Amino acid sequence: MEKKQYERPLLKRIVPTMPGKTGQNTHSVAQTEIDGVALDGLRERFGSPLFVFSEKTLRKNIREAKRAFSTRYPDVRFAWSYKTNYLNAICNLFHEEGSLAEVVSGFEYEKALQNNVPSNRIIFNGPAKSEAELLKAIQGDSLIHVDNTEELRLLTKLAVAHEIRPRVAIRVNLDAGIYPAWSRFGFNLESGQAWDALEKIATEKRLECVGLHCHIGTFIQSVNAYRTETEKMAHLALDAMTKLGLPISYLDLGGGFASKNSLKASYLTGEDLCPTFDDYAEAITSALRMVKFPAGKKLSLIFETGRALVDNAGYLLSSVITNKRMADGRLNTVIDAGVNLLFTSFWYNHKVTSTYDDVAQMEPTSLCGPLCMNIDVIRDNVLLPPLRRNDLLLIHHVGAYNVTQWMQFITMRPKVVMVMENGELQLLRDAETLADLNRMEAK
Ligand SMILES: *Cc1c(COP(=O)(O)O)cnc(C)c1O
Repeated sequence: MEKKQYERPLLKRIVPTMPGKTGQNTHSVAQTEIDGVALDGLRERFGSPLFVFSEKTLRKNIREAKRAFSTRYPDVRFAWSYKTNYLNAICNLFHEEGSLAEVVSGFEYEKALQNNVPSNRIIFNGPAKSEAELLKAIQGDSLIHVDNTEELRLLTKLAVAHEIRPRVAIRVNLDAGIYPAWSRFGFNLESGQAWDALEKIATEKRLECVGLHCHIGTFIQSVNAYRTETEKMAHLALDAMTKLGLPISYLDLGGGFASKNSLKASYLTGEDLCPTFDDYAEAITSALRMVKFPAGKKLSLIFETGRALVDNAGYLLSSVITNKRMADGRLNTVIDAGVNLLFTSFWYNHKVTSTYDDVAQMEPTSLCGPLCMNIDVIRDNVLLPPLRRNDLLLIHHVGAYNVTQWMQFITMRPKVVMVMENGELQLLRDAETLADLNRMEAK
């Protein structure tokens, strides 16, 4: 047998932190503070895990959104979407900045009232309003956005019985080029359902139809979808005013603006893809300007922007518990914050930063929470430097939909604090304890 030739193997270190195919860095730069407040100090004082909000970022976001729209259109208001984050301090911050309340249930309606929002500054959305909730909203002169024919019938009945003229808008769903289109909510435009509902209101004359509402979906990165939505809604409003004589005074174009989070399915990061408020505002207001309304009948605009206003103002601070090597050789780092606190980790590749950089030694890591559940994965694969027990990690862009959809599951919900603009720390919500859980159970 002939002797095989030997070639010396070349061992070469792969540095996984080179820019990827799209030229972006594949790891995040270390972060040790939020608005000047040190992360280790936060943990010392409030424990870990910990949700942290930035007052500065919240105010910056809403002011930026308002500026983008109000410099292009004279009459624009924002309504805070309670379900996106209904911590009272956050709702009240938005109310302080002039936002109405946008609620989708009786419980959220009560929450807005308890936050001292005048009832006529509450927009009541949602597909499942009870008769008692509707009556309360009518008596409070709230803006009721009608979802379906049954609700229209109930409202008319209540209006007659109580001799009140409720202020309503109908929720419209339409094809804005976003698929699958959300046609579950409201009356469909293209099939004529929306027009039928408006005709019914005009004929019965029991409800004051002051607006039209549409919320095309969520995390919509296409400004063209908003252009289409605006065109269609503006023409519907014009027809409702001129052909049916309805006193339409506003268009509520819903929420849905994207945040800078990165969707799991997306190749590029959210930071690259997310349109600015100016981009959205330009598409919407330029579409609206193309529609000629009768003299003196300019519509006001309402936006129910949720995630785009809070996502980047929220962080989840977490501590490393341990490292493991999985059977396939991958590094598995376990932290003290699980998916029960971070519902959005099912959708997003959340940005994760450590408190120090070590570019040469970074390793693709599977980052998991403390739950005894295989699905408890915060990131499948994220580049992190070597971590040891008690090292701190910061999970970014968690301000939307987490502190409402979180749950007590295996671990309790932790504290929530806000870094105030003046540098003070304010406890927004205390950690839950076993006693809180037991209080609700029969003995
Ligand atoms: C959830 C919701 C919003 C907020 O949506 P975002 O995508 O977070 O901006 C606005 N309006 C309605 C009716 C909603 O259900």
